[in-house]
Amino acid sequence: MTTSGGNSIGTPELSVIVPVYNEADNLEALIARLVPVLTRVAASHEIIFVDDGSSDASMDILRTLHQRDHRCRAVSFSRNFGKEIAIAAGLDHARGKAVVIVDADLQHPPEVIETFVARWREGYKNVYGTRIDRNADSALRRILTRRFYSIFETFGETGLPDGAGDFRLLDRQAVEALKSMGERARFSKGLYAWIGFKSIGVPFEVGERHAGTTKFSYGKLTRFALDGLMSFSTLPLKIWTYIGLVVSAFSLFMAIYYILQTIFHGIDVPGYASLIVSITFFAGVQMLSLGILGEYIGRIFAEVKRRPLYLVAERLEDEASVAPQNPARPIPHAPI
Ligand code: UDP
Ligand code: MG
Repeated sequence: MTTSGGNSIGTPELSVIVPVYNEADNLEALIARLVPVLTRVAASHEIIFVDDGSSDASMDILRTLHQRDHRCRAVSFSRNFGKEIAIAAGLDHARGKAVVIVDADLQHPPEVIETFVARWREGYKNVYGTRIDRNADSALRRILTRRFYSIFETFGETGLPDGAGDFRLLDRQAVEALKSMGERARFSKGLYAWIGFKSIGVPFEVGERHAGTTKFSYGKLTRFALDGLMSFSTLPLKIWTYIGLVVSAFSLFMAIYYILQTIFHGIDVPGYASLIVSITFFAGVQMLSLGILGEYIGRIFAEVKRRPLYLVAERLEDEASVAPQNPARPIPHAPI
């Protein structure tokens, strides 16, 4: 691969964002498959690797790739901030007229980008890959993912297209829309659906991970699912009003019942068991509702602190590029 010449300066047609977290063994293989596709489908391109605080040799390899071809750029975080934030940083740095997001482990076959670009040229601004199967994931993870999608479908503010993930092409207009969203708890899958624009799905078969293992533990996935639901639904907050109403109505009937019983049958002392059961039950319900309030308040706290979304330790750029110096997001316009 020769140095980029005219391609690296100005606006490339296509930018590819690759979040990288300890993927040293995958990067060369990814480039070998990605670059031929990009040269075929776009007039010019750039590849932006976002090193999400890797502790392996990923950054050294990225340095080599950058020296070999300046169209490979890299942004390296000061620590691990998570894939969602890595994607946000990629969007901040991408200059292309369209942006494609791919995983570094070759589970997103680069050849599918050809279809993405074809759809984009037909006028679609949000072209998302939909997984035909998730056989690469464990059975338990597949079941949990299914459940999450159906819960989100019922309670979420936006629907999630079935099987749609981060592997997608976004037109510049969609990219700007995503960049204008200042939230810290970023659930990209919801954000992509929320922005709208002319969208279309492209089915693809998930590949096997090229090297290494998944970076998402069940704990991390649970946190992620909670973030998603809480960012796109206020139902967990509101449901307590209805539960409260039902419980109060029930206790009113109980009161009437006991008053009548006292009037007609005199005072009846036994009832210790029912008393204890109802006290502990309602204490539990109150704790739970307080916990949910706490989850939302925690998120509000995280948002109002307005810390920068990420901190950059190093950038590998061509001289001509204008990288944003301050990654702090603009304050979105309040709707009132
Ligand atoms: N990733 C990241 N930061 C993280 C975890 C993952 O940038 O904290 C990247 C990872 O390097 C890969 C992509 O996100 O390029 C998807 O990760 P992985 O393959 O582990 O997830 P899975 O395919 O199991 O969903
Ligand atoms: Mg993967």
